[in-house]
Amino acid sequence: MRIKFWGSRGSLPSPTKHKDVVDLFQKLITQAKKFGMKDLDDFSSAIKEGRFGHPLSFGGNTTCIEVADSNQAVFIDMGSGLREAGTYHTSQGRKEFSIFLTHMHWDHIMGLPFFIPVYVPGAKITIYHVHDNTPEFVKINFNGVNFPLKFEQLSSKIEFKKLDVHKSIQLENFKITPLQLDHPGQAFGYRFESKDEALTVGIDSEYKRLTDESLKDDLPSYQKLDLLVFDGQYEMAELANKFDWGHCSPSIGVDLALREGIRNIVMAHHDPWADYQKLKTMHEKTQKYLEAQLPAYKNVWDRIDKNGPKVYFAYDGLEIDLAK
Ligand SMILES: [Zn+2]
Ligand SMILES: [Zn+2]
Repeated sequence: MRIKFWGSRGSLPSPTKHKDVVDLFQKLITQAKKFGMKDLDDFSSAIKEGRFGHPLSFGGNTTCIEVADSNQAVFIDMGSGLREAGTYHTSQGRKEFSIFLTHMHWDHIMGLPFFIPVYVPGAKITIYHVHDNTPEFVKINFNGVNFPLKFEQLSSKIEFKKLDVHKSIQLENFKITPLQLDHPGQAFGYRFESKDEALTVGIDSEYKRLTDESLKDDLPSYQKLDLLVFDGQYEMAELANKFDWGHCSPSIGVDLALREGIRNIVMAHHDPWADYQKLKTMHEKTQKYLEAQLPAYKNVWDRIDKNGPKVYFAYDGLEIDLAK
């Protein structure tokens, strides 16, 4: 199973500014001088190989995640990252798209009017959802006022399919189970299971429920997992002022991954106010927190013969192949 982040930012797209690029170049050149680098070709390879750090940008698109297994690809959410996903897959000849929607906050549906397949005759787009009123609120994108076209004018065939929380469906290679998240107005994550692997997309969520008892029917979605996409929008210190905002912090995700033996955890839905340096520092702090906590969970990890979870901070373009 493979996962790709077409959009990793939360709440609002966050484009890179001219000043960000200038500052980054200044920093890289200072580092290059420190390394004693004099050759531009060496500088160029150092950038490509990640010797100055990786990634060099976390990116700016809002949530759109692709989950793929052999030729099958499905998408989670229609944030601004959906635009590039649509352009790429259309160029590859794909005409059928399955999109699993977590909820209808603007950052998760804003990409649909810029999703090329919507305008391709013969294209078929199926939007899977748990909320009752999804078709009504997704169609707002095409009310003729906020965007020039009306839903009825679109050339593709767009269908909505309602799912029930905790009731699995089989879609080609994937068994897919919706789970309840903790978010204002409700959001639903999705667990994807293929023959060999399992992953859960658990954004947007505040993770107010963490004990086995409080998670109840959602608990299995966090167990026997190869990868969890977690809502790591805020630092722990920021969370106190953001109660009920519906987002969480990386160290809480690490605790969950340690306890449940989750092999990989990806922090996503980054705060649009968090700049590159802040996200980099958050990643380093999260790694240190993980290393400090790991000994307490030794029995969990000995049982599955692994040395603890791997922590990623999502960036636009991040791809993880779980078979590797
Ligand atoms: Zn969101
Ligand atoms: Zn939301």
